[in-house]
Amino acid sequence: MKLLQEIVGHKQSVKILVKAIAGGRVAHAYIFAGPEGVGKETTAMSFARALLCSRPAGGDACGVCRGCRQASSGNHPDFYLVEPAGSSIKIEQVREIERRVPFRPYQGGRKVFLIRQAETMTAEAANCILKTLEEPPEDTVFILVSARPQLLLPTILSRCQAVYFKGLAVPELIQGLVAIKGVSGEEARLYASLAGGSMGRALSYASGSLLAERDEVNALAGALRQYGPLEAVAMAEKVSESKPRALFTLDTLACWYRDLMVYREAGDDGCLINTDRVEIIKMEAGQYDTARILEIIEEIGSTKRKIEVNANTRLAIEALFLQISDGSAGDAAV
Ligand SMILES: [Zn+2]
Repeated sequence: MKLLQEIVGHKQSVKILVKAIAGGRVAHAYIFAGPEGVGKETTAMSFARALLCSRPAGGDACGVCRGCRQASSGNHPDFYLVEPAGSSIKIEQVREIERRVPFRPYQGGRKVFLIRQAETMTAEAANCILKTLEEPPEDTVFILVSARPQLLLPTILSRCQAVYFKGLAVPELIQGLVAIKGVSGEEARLYASLAGGSMGRALSYASGSLLAERDEVNALAGALRQYGPLEAVAMAEKVSESKPRALFTLDTLACWYRDLMVYREAGDDGCLINTDRVEIIKMEAGQYDTARILEIIEEIGSTKRKIEVNANTRLAIEALFLQISDGSAGDAAV
């Protein structure tokens, strides 16, 4: 488990948490809010461990005391992880929290309740936890984690201190990839550009067969240009088999069109991300005008945002593919 100071990026958020512990001003409830896969849960786990550490140094866990070791191995008796049972967090789970809250911590420090995907609480569960959040004992800290905090009751949000997490910037991801995976800077730049701000995804790309999958998606961009509606819809269905696959496709397409635009505008290959595919980029870049490429990139971004707030993945991708196939057939430039 990482120390808070080892978290990649999120400097501002980490600083708030470290200062709270060091200054003895820990709130009784936090909401960690931000897109999926950017490091909210990793940070929440590190924060929980720092809260449970018996010898915190400078607001961070010491990493070696009994409490730290227990928290790292998932066996700390005062740490409670609550996550959806199936698709939601149910009233029984919140009653169990309620039952434990009044007890003194086993190890004399704090009790920490970490609630993952907090927005999945049923209405009953949410109303129940509200009571607990109103007046928790001094030694109790709640950490709610959510990628969709707008679905939580405003009354819950108002009782939590908000800590926001944004997607990591490409340079931060590159730095992390080079440090953790030891890949070359050029390779790291490709993975980082495709990761949509998520270190988790960047790392998984660096471990997997990313290049073959990327080539498949890039070929799709060329194919969409010539597809009719039926083919576009069929392809959308295939790509939407899973949300991670859909998001990977969108990030990869965004990078591809970005490269086409950069090549059109700059006329050379100095700033490309897909540096190993210059020949295809040269050919494809001539098939669109810059305004059309920008339009497609914007559409891809808006499709991604819709999927992230839980729009129907297949329908969203279908609308995008229809738009790309349709528009480019009519507007092909040069
Ligand atoms: Zn410790």
